[in-house]
Order: sequence, then structure tokens, then C-alpha cells
Amino acid sequence: MSSIYTPLTAERLAALSEKDPALKPAEMPIRLYGIVRESIVDGPGLRFVVFVQGCPHHCPGCHNPESHDPEGGFMTTTTRIWENLIKNPSLRGVTFSGGEPFLWAKELAEVGRCARERGLDVMTYSGWTWEELLKMAETDAGVRSLLSVTRYLVDGPFVQAERDLSLRFRGSRNQHIRDIDHWPASDEAVLLDDIWK
Ligand code: SF4
Repeated sequence: MSSIYTPLTAERLAALSEKDPALKPAEMPIRLYGIVRESIVDGPGLRFVVFVQGCPHHCPGCHNPESHDPEGGFMTTTTRIWENLIKNPSLRGVTFSGGEPFLWAKELAEVGRCARERGLDVMTYSGWTWEELLKMAETDAGVRSLLSVTRYLVDGPFVQAERDLSLRFRGSRNQHIRDIDHWPASDEAVLLDDIWK
């Protein structure tokens, strides 16, 4: 588990600057609720956070109810997200949150693919459970792509009765943080709940 917190060493910074400058995602429209350029509360280390617009789960007590309306938010493109993301060489990773990121799976997978190639890790939230996402991935190429580029998955709806303010990176005890880096080669999803307390 030594790779969970990767410090930004001078060596790593040099490696990032050597990355292909032409690397960028295919341009696709995407509707967002918002962007946070630097966050330390949406996953390990310093992260760029993309909040997508639209969520079918409507969890009571959701902290982002304005993100539910599929027509709300604003339109941008995967390329514009990328251009903003790469401005910051200090990032440890990118987090996809919402809203429901898997409604925009194909688009986020493109950003995530480039992020991984650049040496960043990808954390993705979903109101669907890991088991539900695996089922969806059987028939949905976008879901498969987003799961493939995701290292850390936080899955399951927010449940008010299970709310626990002491939890790190998740709001309720039914939600889990999983390292799914080996998927789809392996269905193994290492639970990080007790490590990231
Ligand atoms: S899945 Fe997340 S954004 Fe959607 S309703 Fe539940 S808590 Fe809110």
C-alpha cells in the first residue's frame, strides 16, 4: 500500500514535464456542475475535481442537490477540462464527482485516460454500487472505460441513517473506497475503508 500517498518529488515533477505535450483527450461536450482546481478533501493528496451535472439517485440529504437536474449546470468540453487540469504541476490526481459521474462515463474516461498517462491517479465517485457498476459494464462500453481508468472508486448512494462525519472521503458508512486498479484483469477490489479512516 506504499503507493497510496505519493509525494510530489523533484524526480516525479521532472517525469511529468517530460510527458507528451500533445497528449489531450478527444474533444467531447460534457455538462458540469462545477470544478475545483485544488482540493485535499476529495481523495488523497492535492486533486483537481470535476463535478458533473445530473444525478438519478436523489439521495435524501445529498449535499449537492443542485447537481441533480440533467439540464442544469453548464456545458464545456473534455478538452477544456484538460487544459485547466494540466496548468497545475502539483496535482496528485483527478477526482470525478457530481452529480453521477457514470452518466458521463465515456467523456470522463477520456480525461481519465490522459490523466493516467500523465502519471496522475483517478478517483471516481458513484451512487451505484460496485456490483451494480460491474453489471452495467457488461453492456456499456463507457462504464467499462471509466472503471478501467479509475484507481479509487467510492461507491454507493449517500444514506442519511448511515451518515458519519468522521469518515474520510465518503459521507455514509454504506459507501466504500475500493482500489480497483487491477480491473478488468481481476475483479479484485481492495477495500481501503480501514486504511483511509
Ligand atoms: S449519488 Fe451523490 S450527487 Fe447523487 S443524490 Fe446521491 S449524494 Fe447526491
